[in-house]
Amino acid sequence: MFMRVDRLITELPPPKKQDPNAAAALQELLGGKYGEMSTLGNYMFQSFNFRSKDKLRPFYSLVASITAEELAHVELVSNGVAMLNNGPDKPGGDEMAGGDITKSPFEAMQDIRLASAFLSNGGGATPVNANGASWNNDFVTTTGNVIFDLLHNFHLECGARLHKLRVYETLSADDATGREVCGYLLVRGSVHAHSYALAIKKLTGVEIEKMLPTPNIPLANIPECQKYLNEGSHRRLYTWSPNDYQEISGIWSNDEVALPGDPPGPLEVVEGMPDGGKIHQLQGVPSAFTPDYAPEEFYEIASKLYKASR
Ligand code: MN
Ligand code: MN
Repeated sequence: MFMRVDRLITELPPPKKQDPNAAAALQELLGGKYGEMSTLGNYMFQSFNFRSKDKLRPFYSLVASITAEELAHVELVSNGVAMLNNGPDKPGGDEMAGGDITKSPFEAMQDIRLASAFLSNGGGATPVNANGASWNNDFVTTTGNVIFDLLHNFHLECGARLHKLRVYETLSADDATGREVCGYLLVRGSVHAHSYALAIKKLTGVEIEKMLPTPNIPLANIPECQKYLNEGSHRRLYTWSPNDYQEISGIWSNDEVALPGDPPGPLEVVEGMPDGGKIHQLQGVPSAFTPDYAPEEFYEIASKLYKASR
């Protein structure tokens, strides 16, 4: 089962400008072949389908617990996409009616890379890649063979790292929102690649972690990774559960240390989930009918219901 907490896995700085094409680039990290939908889909179905769970507990728990983190990554990228599509909040902008719609208020949306992100989704995110192609089941590998599935997951995390680095390179220097998404996910993806490498090493003796980092650029070269390295995020794996999945410490244990090139120290398992940060309150745009053209009545109803619930 899953439990839901109304927090974002890390807090995102608000966007300085509306930038739908940057949002389109970020979509590759959501619905691309190596995006968060793919890591989520792979680990989720592998964990459901896992054979001999009791006998292979540390390996099952690794895939099962990382599944939950990937869902939080899907949420993080989706928030980043929507924030960039929306741009900075306009004070009171969601409190007045939508105004005169005959003056082409969204003419500029004809020229954005993913016009459907506005036309269909009102600036929200969906599981498509940077070209708008749908994420699909062909990106899920769940063979039931433990080594093959773990090897696939290692490949997937290295691929995800490559794609994050390239997306990062496309984002302008003042795109704090998009760059924070990439910086955070580069650190966490490196943890996942490392953990799958250690799992394969425990099973086969092959020191596959010596291939890391792939691509061969240290996290310290990316300024947005720095604060996560300083707090030791690159050495931390979460159980994402109050009581379960603690067996991952058999793989991600104190005998193992951070990768050479990253700040040194022992690997640590943390029970539960990260504290996370607050979710950016995405402002409504009445002229785009989000949450509606004239939303005052909704706000009033919701406010009464909220008071009644307290
Ligand atoms: Mn991820
Ligand atoms: Mn991952």
